[in-house]
Amino acid sequence: MEIIDGKKLAANLRAEIASDAAALKAEKGVTPGLAVILVGENPASVSYVTAKEKACAEAGMYSREIRLPESTTQEELLALVKELNGDSAIHGILVQLPLPKHIADKAVIDAIAPEKDVDGFTAVNVGRMLIGEECFLPCTPHGIIKLIEFSGMDLAGKHAVVIGRSNIVGKPVAVLLSRKETNATVTMCHTGTRDLASFTRQADVVVVAAGRPGTLTGDMLKPGAVVIDVGVNRIKDETRPKGFRLAGDADFDSCAKVARAITPVPGGVGPMTITMLLWNTLEAAKRAS
Ligand code: NAD
Repeated sequence: MEIIDGKKLAANLRAEIASDAAALKAEKGVTPGLAVILVGENPASVSYVTAKEKACAEAGMYSREIRLPESTTQEELLALVKELNGDSAIHGILVQLPLPKHIADKAVIDAIAPEKDVDGFTAVNVGRMLIGEECFLPCTPHGIIKLIEFSGMDLAGKHAVVIGRSNIVGKPVAVLLSRKETNATVTMCHTGTRDLASFTRQADVVVVAAGRPGTLTGDMLKPGAVVIDVGVNRIKDETRPKGFRLAGDADFDSCAKVARAITPVPGGVGPMTITMLLWNTLEAAKRAS
């Protein structure tokens, strides 16, 4: 059984991205720039934003952190996004979600210029992805495809089962897996699926993004399957300094006995998400220069 090392793949890709960013700077005088907007003080969001800024600095990119109070209005946020759309030092704009309840996430996300939408969340970008036009691939789903390839699996003709149908993971993963370049046959399962195990047992690769620990267990797998565990769940654990540990959606121990390869949590999909954000920011800077 192989552990698919997301940290290692992320480090390899980040080294390539840093070298490409340096070349862009040397050849065209352009430093890829990412604006990260955080509204409020949600602790998980603060730590995600800090990690994104650190990753930018390590890749030789410029990042502009804009922290706004919880009381920020939707109009103020829209005005800021508009200003950044026109700022030539900024190639990518990221609005950390969730936003406070009085602001409509969708209105703000769709205000981001598609050529700066490095999260790949705008309706224009999602539509372009669906019909196979040039776009920015959403970071977590793109990272998942890279991890499956890194595990040594050629997806063409394979059966992939995706558990989850969210707009940020399940649906886009299913789209990317079934694109002609990837050529997998995809089954998408969700809370309306009857007898989940009857589908997962047919799968060569299972991507589980349900947000519930223990959704996938070893008895639900075909021997030799590849498992990509997207879930991040906090499990209470008083023996840990923070009072919790992280667990994925797959029961690691039982799945590891049956699978050929599996991503750990943490250290699997997580490191790839920020890496693909850097990838998109570099790409945005290249397209703009
Ligand atoms: P979500 O809650 O929006 O969607 C979960 C989906 O899973 C739903 O579509 C639901 O139908 C399906 N589902 C839930 N329980 C199920 C079950 N028992 N059987 C079949 N389907 C079931 O969640 P999300 O935003 O897609 O995130 C999923 C998980 O991935 C979360 O734990 C989240 O924290 C994690 N996540 C991780 C990263 C990362 O970078 N590592 C990024 C995004 C999300």
